[in-house]
Amino acid sequence: MSSGQGLPPIGPGVPNRPSLCSFCGKGSREVGTLIEGIDRTFICRECADLCQSMFRRQQKQRFGNKIAWHVPTPRQITARLNEYVVGQTLAKKVLSVAVHNHYKRQLFSENPSGVQLDKSNILLLGPTGCGKTLLAQTLAKIIDVPFAIGDATTLTEAGYVGEDVENLLLKLISAADYDIEIAQRGIIYIDEIDKIGKRNQNVSITRDVSGEGVQQALLKMLEGTVANVPAHGGRKHPEQQYLQIDTSRILFICGGTFVGLEEIIRHRVGRTHIGFAASGTDRAAQDEAYLPRVTPDDLSRFGMIPELIGRLPVTAVLDPLEEETLVRILREPRNALVKQYKRLFQMEDAHIDFTEEALRTLARQALERKTGARGLRSIIEKLLLDAMYQLPDQMKGCRYVITKEMVEEKEPIRPLPYTPAVTRIA
Ligand code: ADP
Repeated sequence: MSSGQGLPPIGPGVPNRPSLCSFCGKGSREVGTLIEGIDRTFICRECADLCQSMFRRQQKQRFGNKIAWHVPTPRQITARLNEYVVGQTLAKKVLSVAVHNHYKRQLFSENPSGVQLDKSNILLLGPTGCGKTLLAQTLAKIIDVPFAIGDATTLTEAGYVGEDVENLLLKLISAADYDIEIAQRGIIYIDEIDKIGKRNQNVSITRDVSGEGVQQALLKMLEGTVANVPAHGGRKHPEQQYLQIDTSRILFICGGTFVGLEEIIRHRVGRTHIGFAASGTDRAAQDEAYLPRVTPDDLSRFGMIPELIGRLPVTAVLDPLEEETLVRILREPRNALVKQYKRLFQMEDAHIDFTEEALRTLARQALERKTGARGLRSIIEKLLLDAMYQLPDQMKGCRYVITKEMVEEKEPIRPLPYTPAVTRIA
């Protein structure tokens, strides 16, 4: 190929004919450099750009279809979830089936049979820090679709002070690099959905936190609507551009702790069904046993509007994390905290290990905080603060073994003397 800028290339048998772009017909004086192909064909920069964007669009469409055509089976989804999320076996099963069906439905809806398959959004119930967000996030990663997180408590009905429901859609669009088609296949996780129950009364006149208005706004989005999303969020600038997005194919996963719901279920089923109610921890353990028996009526009594409950037909209850599970969370997942700190220390040629008892003590400390696995990182950060402070300057190549006594702050964290590996020369 040769460039034909300025001077028209002259070939054998082509008397002084100026070269023109074979696509738009413009000459090099108009469009600048022309790239020459075989048989005296040329292409200008503009046409090349256009071709490139057409190829890109086609690729994206293929990528989009790939989602529908290669929906992993529920078993495959669970296997991938197991790499990141510890325990929660039943919730993983429920989610794997729901997500598989959701994306299969999209494939089926393009079928001319005319059968309309309704969308099944998902409701996750479980204590804080037990993996609700992690599950939703990991699912999006597995299916390879954009993902956005929102907090129901920050949402308000349009017109009130606070975040509009449409902002959730904007987050998803932004996660999809502003490709609306891809965003329409995404997953939105809405946390703290239980906090917008009707019974949470409020006294504010500027901010709708009573929940019912927000529930109504969410309902529309969950049902499927063509929403006009302000391109820069908020509604303060009426002149700004709107992005149109159809929410009917977006999978909504809502999560909440639903504190007090067990009480409602217990009243409904009666105490005798699950044995004698005791006090203290026994009572708490019994309460947890009620949660998997949740019905739409219980949720309605809790304060959620029936229409919204109807739009969340798949319910998964997550287990509270016990000491054993927390220890596994510290050690096993792909991004386990122990693995992360080992890597961090390795970067300074140092080593860090935790004894089994140290991990158990960390797990127990997290349990005391009642924040599930979420507390683990901050406990370790605090524990290793001094060691990490000194590491890059003074402690390169050191080896640390964190013991139970160090976690309990009965002993300071000191590095062991470094013994470099001996290389034997035969
Ligand atoms: P929530 O249930 O409140 O949404 P998250 O999913 O945000 O809790 O969990 C907080 C953090 O705790 C996660 O980022 C993850 O590191 C860890 N975690 C919680 N549950 C699990 C679990 N079951 N397996 C692995 N890590 C977990």
